[in-house]
Amino acid sequence: MNHIYDVIIIGGGPAGYTAALYASRAGLDTLIIEKLSVGGQMTLTGDIENYPGFPEAIDGFTLGMNMQAAAERFGTVTEYGEVTSLDLLSFPKEIKVDNTSYYSKAVILAMGASPRLLGIEGETEFTGRSIHYCAHCDGRFYKDKTVAVIGGGNSAVSDALYLSRIAKKVILIHRRDTLRATKIYHEPLMNANNIEFMWNSQLIKLVTESKVKGAIIKNILTNEEAPIDCDAIFVSIGRRPETNTVKGIINLDENGYIIADESTKTSVEGVFAAGDIRTKALRQIVTAASDGAIAAHFAEEYISRL
Ligand code: FAD
Repeated sequence: MNHIYDVIIIGGGPAGYTAALYASRAGLDTLIIEKLSVGGQMTLTGDIENYPGFPEAIDGFTLGMNMQAAAERFGTVTEYGEVTSLDLLSFPKEIKVDNTSYYSKAVILAMGASPRLLGIEGETEFTGRSIHYCAHCDGRFYKDKTVAVIGGGNSAVSDALYLSRIAKKVILIHRRDTLRATKIYHEPLMNANNIEFMWNSQLIKLVTESKVKGAIIKNILTNEEAPIDCDAIFVSIGRRPETNTVKGIINLDENGYIIADESTKTSVEGVFAAGDIRTKALRQIVTAASDGAIAAHFAEEYISRL
């Protein structure tokens, strides 16, 4: 007879391990499956300054390990492997890691969403050291400096506005001649006197020393290339939610995020979505952790009704 867990959580980032902590403290038999390393996107950042309780900041790797240790203290089991397919409509629900099946009564999806990269030379090398993907996380390091924001959608524009309150100058570089962002952003953007626009433009090369010093920008209509000086580049060209395995099973929005509100309930009974993977306004560690707690609460309630 196969073992049936109360809850299986897919993804070992802050959403996953907070869900695991709450679920195992509530006495649920809890398994977490992580494909790479514990901590998720937190491991990509050095100093985390906006997760409460750490006045001197904490590095993402340590925070991830601490979250895992806290959940395992109450009985959570971690398995390493990539979930490749799921049967979420059957009972018990089946989660497959290659040829191995795991079974549970409830499932919490916490696979996150990765930022899309520019794909230019040096990008990975300078990530976290003047190339950033999260203005709310790293913007404050650029007080009174010049920063470039790449993108033209809602998140790029909201990042540019946020950074304009910290940096001396923000250069918004967009490959079209109009913004894709919703109208609500247009007026504050035009009124900000320290935001410059480069339309029809694409960043093609980084200018670096030990950090990014600037970039070469190409006008895609004229093919002219021009250098800009900047202290950092914030890439805001969208994110890729890790929802391939649930496409066609769970309702997703047009960008591939799982449609779920604050309750974290998805379109399938007994399946919950926590963290960056779901539709939400602010993708941060604290909001992922909050989702994890709520998902565990509703998973427990669901199981109690079975
Ligand atoms: P993730 O952290 O993305 O974790 C998802 C996990 O699921 C990953 O470990 C992944 O390997 C795993 N996974 C995915 N698919 C599968 C599968 N099929 N099978 C098994 N496992 C799978 N936020 C802040 O609050 N403060 C900061 O300072 C900050 N800095 C950041 C810096 C960078 C460079 C980045 C990229 C993000 C930063 N963020 C910061 C955002 C924050 O890290 C995320 O909002 C948060 O990690 C989301 O948590 P999550 O658990 O939802 O997803």
